[in-house]
Amino acid sequence: MRDKVLICIQCNNAFVFTVTEQEHFLSMGFDPPRRCPSCRKNKFKESEIRSRKNNKYKKKHFHMKYDENVEE
Ligand SMILES: [Zn+2]
Repeated sequence: MRDKVLICIQCNNAFVFTVTEQEHFLSMGFDPPRRCPSCRKNKFKESEIRSRKNNKYKKKHFHMKYDENVEE
């Protein structure tokens, strides 16, 4: 067996599916992971964070625009 590079279905980042993990997944009878470790970690928090995340994005976007205007 060799390490495999998989593409995360959520963030489209490549991540390594190591031999150790492959053996673990096989022994548990699981399918190969479709999400990278960080997306898997965030999976639980996702619904909880979603609303806050949107607020954060809006604020960040606003600041970016504001900065642009200042530069001009
Ligand atoms: Zn991901």
